[in-house]
Amino acid sequence: MEKSSVQSQSTLPDGAYRSSRGSGEDRLAVLRHEMEYLNTIGKRFVAANDRFQVHRALLATLQELYSFSACAILLKGQHGDPFELSIIPRYPLSSSFLQEMIQRIARAANIIDFPNVTPEELAVAAYFDAPDDLALMEPQPPLGSSEIGDFLHLPLAVEDRIIGLLSLFHEREGVFDTQLLQLTRIIADYAAIALENMRLREREQALWREAEFERRRLELIISSMAEALLITNAQGAIVSLNRFAEQLFQQAEIDTRLEPGVPLRQLAARSNVPWLRELAHVVDQALTGQTIKNQELIIGESGETVPLTLSISAAPLSQDSHHPLPGGAVVVLNDITDRKQIEKLKDEFVSVVSHELRTPLTAIKGYTQHLVRRLERRLRQQAREGRDQSELPESYDLRSLYIVQSEAEHLERLVSDLLDLSRVQWGRLDLQYTPFYLADLLAEQVRLAQANTEQHIIQLDLQVQDSKVIADRQRIAQVVGNILDNAIKYSPQGGHVIVRLESAGEDFLISISDEGIGVSPEYLDHIFERFYRVRNAASRQYSGIGLGLYVARAIVEAHGGHIGYASNQSGMGSTFYFSLPRTPNPAEKR
Ligand code: ADP
Repeated sequence: MEKSSVQSQSTLPDGAYRSSRGSGEDRLAVLRHEMEYLNTIGKRFVAANDRFQVHRALLATLQELYSFSACAILLKGQHGDPFELSIIPRYPLSSSFLQEMIQRIARAANIIDFPNVTPEELAVAAYFDAPDDLALMEPQPPLGSSEIGDFLHLPLAVEDRIIGLLSLFHEREGVFDTQLLQLTRIIADYAAIALENMRLREREQALWREAEFERRRLELIISSMAEALLITNAQGAIVSLNRFAEQLFQQAEIDTRLEPGVPLRQLAARSNVPWLRELAHVVDQALTGQTIKNQELIIGESGETVPLTLSISAAPLSQDSHHPLPGGAVVVLNDITDRKQIEKLKDEFVSVVSHELRTPLTAIKGYTQHLVRRLERRLRQQAREGRDQSELPESYDLRSLYIVQSEAEHLERLVSDLLDLSRVQWGRLDLQYTPFYLADLLAEQVRLAQANTEQHIIQLDLQVQDSKVIADRQRIAQVVGNILDNAIKYSPQGGHVIVRLESAGEDFLISISDEGIGVSPEYLDHIFERFYRVRNAASRQYSGIGLGLYVARAIVEAHGGHIGYASNQSGMGSTFYFSLPRTPNPAEKR
């Protein structure tokens, strides 16, 4: 391409940068020309939609200034590549010309901001961007010679930050007019900004695609979950829910899609479905920042053997640190009907088995009592005859029978605990209220417990005169027996066990202290749970099923009392206590 043709294509007259020497009017005309020209180039770059179009705009502009055989754009790389090199030839180039181009680009790059780029790396990374329309503009391209005659390198910079390098090459010498350098720099700046914009746009698009992919993935996971899941906004209106959750709402005849933006509590208030209100309440709790775990929600009809039961967990969706209140709530509902069914079957089985055990136990207890009385009578008789009782075989037999009696009592308590387990579970712990003296009951339990141990000294400390109470005698005996069993079991080295009866306002207060292994504070929240047993080195060796305290609590609470634990002041052993109203509270009478 001849230089004259460059000038004729350009809207900028030749020597625009030298024209300041002309008259004032001339200068004004030149300035206007310059502005128009820059405006035209600016528009070309702004119109570009991808980086190849930026390349075209750059090429078209440079062609108006210079004749050149190839242009190269080296850019700092993305996606882990150190750089990207585009070579845009204007006609077929010889390989030696190309090689030299790459050598020169590498050298120039090392000087600006690409310290360790080697020609080999560049050769591997380079790609050719030879647009068809450029080929058309040059119908008969001259075949390139093998050597570079002239070249021009310009850094591509955005706000003083170097993002790449622009290079032009020609076979002929002296083609790159230094007088056009200033203008070329402006063009390079335009190109740099346009390329940087494209890069930002590409990055943004990639991030968007990634986010979209994540969103779809999450949607798939949520929709295929076995649990029902729903997400609300800060007002408690459902913004997203999966298929299972949708089915649940359908059961309640609510189509959440028909009422977007309506808080769940409003939907619940309008409906007469009880579980919907509970669900709305849980959502509202989560919206105040609380986390709710595994709360039971009965969905099915109450008449069914085991109604459809869900376990509901909810958590607040926190916003950024500027917003103290949650931006929404996420709720997960898990179908636990099968588990409930199995629990019920298990409880029924335990109940049936313990019932069957009771009958032979009653016989054992009855006949033992009969034998004990006979032996006691005989021994009294022989005592009257003046014989030394300690040598009599009956004396030994009686002691043995006391142990049988005590063990039978222990066994009966275990069976009762098992039997009561299902009653407590299903709220059918019926109490048989009768009047009796608590002091007598405690004395009896102390005697039975003492018969079974020689290491312990079990003392009764009665601090009330009148211990008359109206309660379920057998069950209160079960409570005292359970706590006494533990006091002996968990103080293997022996020691004192004190059973104390005090008055506390309208209630009696019964406490049982031992000098045993005690309960570490971290377990205290759990020891009254069903089947809970402390499993540390100190308690592992003792047998038990973890029901005694659970049943004891249920019985005490059914009487309107309270059961608890207090560590002894000495730091050794435990004290379990429970309160018992003297007369049944109206709510407990039934
Ligand atoms: P278990 O059959 O295991 O004795 P319980 O329900 O009676 O079940 O008691 C629950 C747990 O509480 C026991 O496993 C034990 O670790 C602890 N515990 C109960 N009573 C005492 C006590 N007097 N001293 C120390 N630990 C006790």
